[in-house]
Amino acid sequence: MEEVTKEKKNLNFLEQIIEEDLANNTHGGTITVRFPPEPNGYLHIGHAKSICLNFGLAQNYGGKCNLRFDDTNPAKEDVEYVESIQEDVRWLGFQWADEPKYASDYFEELYQMAVKLIKDGKAYVDALTPDEVQAYRGTITEAGRPSPWRDRPIEESLSLFERMRNGEFEDGRYLLRAKIDMAHTNMFMRDPLLYRIRNIEHHRTGKKWAIYPLYDFAHGQCDYIEGITHSICTLEFIPHRPLYEWFLEQLADPTKIIPHQYEFARLNMTYTLMSKRKLLQLVQNKVVTGWDDPRMPTISGMRRRGYTAEGIRNFAERIGVAKRDNLIDISSLEFSIREDLNKKAIRFMGVLDPIKVIITNYPEAGGDLIIATNNPEDETMGKRLMKFSREIYIERDDFMEVPQKKYHRLAPGKEVRLRYAYYITCTDFVKDTDGQITEIHCTYDPETFGGQSEDNRKIPGTIHWVDAASAIDAEVRLYEPMFTDPTPEAYENEIEPKKFMHFLNPNSLTVIRAKVEPAVAESGREATFQFERKGYFCVDKDSTTENLVINRTVTLRDSYAKAQQK
Ligand code: ATP
Ligand code: MG
Repeated sequence: MEEVTKEKKNLNFLEQIIEEDLANNTHGGTITVRFPPEPNGYLHIGHAKSICLNFGLAQNYGGKCNLRFDDTNPAKEDVEYVESIQEDVRWLGFQWADEPKYASDYFEELYQMAVKLIKDGKAYVDALTPDEVQAYRGTITEAGRPSPWRDRPIEESLSLFERMRNGEFEDGRYLLRAKIDMAHTNMFMRDPLLYRIRNIEHHRTGKKWAIYPLYDFAHGQCDYIEGITHSICTLEFIPHRPLYEWFLEQLADPTKIIPHQYEFARLNMTYTLMSKRKLLQLVQNKVVTGWDDPRMPTISGMRRRGYTAEGIRNFAERIGVAKRDNLIDISSLEFSIREDLNKKAIRFMGVLDPIKVIITNYPEAGGDLIIATNNPEDETMGKRLMKFSREIYIERDDFMEVPQKKYHRLAPGKEVRLRYAYYITCTDFVKDTDGQITEIHCTYDPETFGGQSEDNRKIPGTIHWVDAASAIDAEVRLYEPMFTDPTPEAYENEIEPKKFMHFLNPNSLTVIRAKVEPAVAESGREATFQFERKGYFCVDKDSTTENLVINRTVTLRDSYAKAQQK
C-alpha cells in the first residue's frame, strides 16, 4: 500500500488523471491525445514542452498522439510552417499516429455541426459589425445585450449561412454565432462567434471555403471527431472550457468518446520570447537571420545551434508539469543541454583568441603525434592523434606578462602543461609598437611527452593549444541571450505592443576568428563537440569549404583548468 502512494507522488496531475481513467476504463481503457499547432510560425521551446508532454503520455500509457494542424486561419498560415513543424516533432524524437491531421480535413463536418446548431435554435446568423459585437457583449460587470438578429427565424439563418459558405458576401457582412446567454458571467459564453466570412484562399482547401470556423468552435469538435480522450492545453484556456463542454453537449453522440480539456502551465523562460507572433516580428524586422537563427528559441534555431533532442527532452522532464504559471530560468535549459553533451560530445581543441607560441628548443623540421582522448566520460569513444610542432597557438588570456596571485597558467619563467603534449616554460615574449603581445617564446621539456613527467613535479596549470601549421581558421559565433531584460514580454501594452524590441541585446552575437584542430572540419554538421575549456560547439550550416563557421552551443560551467586552480 505504501509503495503505491509513494509512486503516486511522483506522478504529475495529468498522469494521475490518466491512470485513474485507465483504471476506471473511462474511455474503454484507451488514451488518445494530440499536439495541435497552428501553422503560423516555427515551433519554439514552449511547444517542445507540450510535444514532450503529449507524445510522452501516449508513449508511457500505450496510447496514441495525433499531430493536428489547427489551420483555421488561412491569412497567417503557410505550408512552410506545416513542414517545419513536422520536421521539428520528428527531430525531437516523436512520431504521431497515422498521417498528420488537419482541422481543414473536417471543414465539412464542422459546417454540418454548425447547421445542426442553427436547426436546433442554438445558433444564428448575425449582421452586427465586429465593433458592434464588441459593444453588445457588455463587460465583466455588465450583462451584454442581445443582437437585433438573435431571434432571426431558423430558416433565414440556414439560408444565409449557406450563402455565406458559397462566397456570396464580402468579409464581415455576416457572422454565425452560438445562442447561449448574453448575461453569462463567463464572457466566452455570450453568444460566441462560430464562423466568419473570409474570402481568402486556404493553403490546403484552396478557394473551396469563404467561411472559416473560429478556434473555440473548431477545436473541441476536432478533438471529438478524432476520438481524443484528454485534450491538454495551457492555462489561458480555462475560461474557454465551459464553451468547449457546451458545444460537445449539443453536438456529440454520448455513446462515443467525449474529450475533456485539461490545462497545464505554459513554459515561460527568462530572456526568452515565447510567442510565434513576436518571433515572426524578429524575423520580419531582420533582427535575426531567420526562424532558425541560433539565437532564436525555436526548435530549429536550437537544433542549428547544436542543442540535442535528448537534452531538450530531459529539460522538459526536469521542469515538470504544473497547474500554476511560473518562470523557468534559461540556465536550467542550458544545464540540461550541457549535461547531455558532456556524455556524448567528442572533445577537440580550438583556440578562440589565438596567440602564437614558439618553442625555441623544438626541432624546426618534423613534429610529434600527440594522443588525445576523445571523451574522458566515455572510453568507447576512443582516442585521436593531433599534430604537434615548433609553433602552436594558445589562448591570449592563458598568458600574463605580470601574473596575478594564483594565476597558474603561462607567464615569464613559469611552466605549464600543454594538454596531452608537453610541459613548456615561458622564456620571452614579443610586443608590437602598441604594446600588444604578438608572440611568446618557450622551451619544452622533451621528457614530458603526453603531458606527464617522470619526476611527478607539480604543474598546477593545464592549457589547450593547437598546432600552428595544421590548424584551420574558423569563424566562431558566440551567443548571448537575445534580450537584456529577463522578462522582455512583461512590459507590453497597447501603446507599445512591440516593447520587447527595446530590450534587444546588442551583444547577442559576437563573431571571432579562431584556430581549430583540423578534425573539426570533418566532424559533420549534426554533431556538437566540445572545445576543451571553451564550451560546446557545432559546425553551422553557413560553413563552406573556404570558410569554416562554428556556433558556440553553450559554455562550460567549469573548465578543468579552473577546477585545478581550486
Ligand atoms: P504562440 O503564442 O507561440 O503562437 P500558441 O499557443 O498560439 O503559441 P499553438 O500553435 O496554438 O501556439 O500551440 C500548439 C500547442 O502548443 C498548444 O497546445 C499550446 O497550448 C502549446 N503551447 C504553446 N506555447 C506553449 C508554451 N509556452 N508552453 C507550453 N505549451 C505551449
Ligand atoms: Mg495560437
